[in-house]
Amino acid sequence: MSTLTYTDGVPAIDHHSHAGYVRPGQKLEPVSSYELENALGHIEGRVPHADYQQWMAESEAGRAAEADSLAAALSIPALIEESRRFQSTTVYAAVLREGSEALYGRHDAQTTDRLSLEAREKDFTALYDRALLLSDTASVLTDIPEIDAELWPHERYKPVARIDPYLFPFGHPTWTGRGTDTPRFRRIFSSILQRQLDLAGVPSLPATLSAYVDFVRASLDRRRASGFVGLKIASAYVRTLQFQRTERMAAEDAWRTLASTAEVDPAAHKTLSDYLAFEILEWAVANEMPVQIHTGFGHPEPGLRISTANPLLLEELIGDPKLNTLKIILIHGGFPYSSYLTALAQMNGNVHLDFSWMPYLQHHTVGRLLEEWLELLPANRVLYGTDTASPEVHYASTMRARKSLDTVLESGVRDGLWTMRQAGWLAERVLHGNLCDLYGISL
Ligand SMILES: [Zn+2]
Repeated sequence: MSTLTYTDGVPAIDHHSHAGYVRPGQKLEPVSSYELENALGHIEGRVPHADYQQWMAESEAGRAAEADSLAAALSIPALIEESRRFQSTTVYAAVLREGSEALYGRHDAQTTDRLSLEAREKDFTALYDRALLLSDTASVLTDIPEIDAELWPHERYKPVARIDPYLFPFGHPTWTGRGTDTPRFRRIFSSILQRQLDLAGVPSLPATLSAYVDFVRASLDRRRASGFVGLKIASAYVRTLQFQRTERMAAEDAWRTLASTAEVDPAAHKTLSDYLAFEILEWAVANEMPVQIHTGFGHPEPGLRISTANPLLLEELIGDPKLNTLKIILIHGGFPYSSYLTALAQMNGNVHLDFSWMPYLQHHTVGRLLEEWLELLPANRVLYGTDTASPEVHYASTMRARKSLDTVLESGVRDGLWTMRQAGWLAERVLHGNLCDLYGISL
């Protein structure tokens, strides 16, 4: 029997997921692949940089024999086992267990793995649909480059397009840092841009900035017409969140610099992406497309700079008079800058916050943050989300988000902060109402 007072029976709409997304060249993998992904930081911190880079390059290129022999030489299988053991006390481990049990019943790890892979291979959408049904989720927004609307009906799976691929038409400066996360994001951005150029019938990068901006606008128009409901900025993984309004002349100069050299000049790289970001955000204002922005920490592997993913760096963008009606949603709770998000939303009526990602990484923190957000901010600012492509994680994150929200609402009612009616209303606002208003969609 459910113990939820306010969130039970309230349908959810997931503000940020990756439902339907399988990275290019990646094959379907069982639920244990998430533990493996989470083990990368443990491995990276224990084998020499060059060896790690080589092992990941072989793995990502699908050269299994080379990857396996290198892994054996570096004792990577033992490191993975060790990481698995240490991961077992994390919220993530609990979530994988809870979600698997809900979808496949209680089994040993091997059987769960087999069942999770079989279910994906047989009918991935049916499996995701089941996770939605069991968690009373009406639909999800999904951050995905393209979606097959036949396979993943728009009614339940609404795509959101990243703007980042458009920001870096000349690629990126050479990566010499730790980890493989940032270079992976860069590769994905570049391949998505190439795909959008192909779809537009543009054989190669346009020669001028002006022609390029025309292509970007047309590409966004086409995606909007095909059912994309919003935009996302994931640039924190590859650059600073400090987007500066840039004069057209400076952008033209940066374009010429980047076009004339093989090495990507870091200053020109930033100038051009700053300029393009504002162009696209003005398009978003004109087309009433909400924009999600990644803030705060990244994956458990080095790459993203936490200091440049600080949401306060967005103050120039948020404070821009031409963007005052842009519907902004700062996503993932911005950890460890969560209270900065609270302040930004309190001071800017067009800024909203989602706590996607948090329900499967953090437990007590989610409750504390919801308390802070819901008691200070107007009721229209907070949105629930999962940030996952996994049906198992979707189910467990949604159930955990419901529970955390319920606990906060119960305590608010107990303390005389809200009436029971107000608590019920807040549950609806957070679980779907705010999203429906922002994106103009209905349950
Ligand atoms: Zn995400």
